[in-house]
Amino acid sequence: MQANLLEPLRIAIRDVPDFPQKGILFKDITPVLADPHLMKLAIDGMVEPFAGLKIDKVVGIDARGFIFGSMIAQRLNAGFVPVRKKGKLPWKTIGVDYSLEYGTNRVEMHVDAIQPGEKVLLADDLLATGGTAAAALHLILQAGAELLGSTFFIELGFLKGRTQLDSTGPVHSLLNFG
Ligand code: AMP
Repeated sequence: MQANLLEPLRIAIRDVPDFPQKGILFKDITPVLADPHLMKLAIDGMVEPFAGLKIDKVVGIDARGFIFGSMIAQRLNAGFVPVRKKGKLPWKTIGVDYSLEYGTNRVEMHVDAIQPGEKVLLADDLLATGGTAAAALHLILQAGAELLGSTFFIELGFLKGRTQLDSTGPVHSLLNFG
């Protein structure tokens, strides 16, 4: 997608300094969610490189990854699988601990959410250090599935998070805040 088409998205994202803690410049995407034209543009761009592929499941990461991931799954005619923060899923889970740009966390996925051999696309709103995405990748591989690629609305390029996904398929991000 041409860079100038993405300008309205870049402008809509609101920078919130020192949230949720001092030193973090939080990228608030709620103005994009609130505008159907912007949201369509965002999903179009996130799906574009993967549109021709046969994808069984889109894995979205708690919580904003659910919004982007489920819309992407619909477009690709794939199922959606939530990777959630600790203790939120009702059924049997597999889990991974990881460190975040701010703090530490644990993510979990239902044991039967992905079948061995399934082709998976990973989706989240933002790639920062890549710790969250790497944890989700770990769960996908533990389930015996194949990660075909990952797609992010925003990438904070200076944090070099994509190096954590290097050995997997293409890592696509729509807007890079270098
Ligand atoms: P990381 O594991 O460091 O790549 O962090 C990615 C996760 O944390 C994503 O699910 C984001 O929603 C959230 N996140 C990290 N940094 C920011 C930021 N500066 N603005 C908004 N969300 C962020």
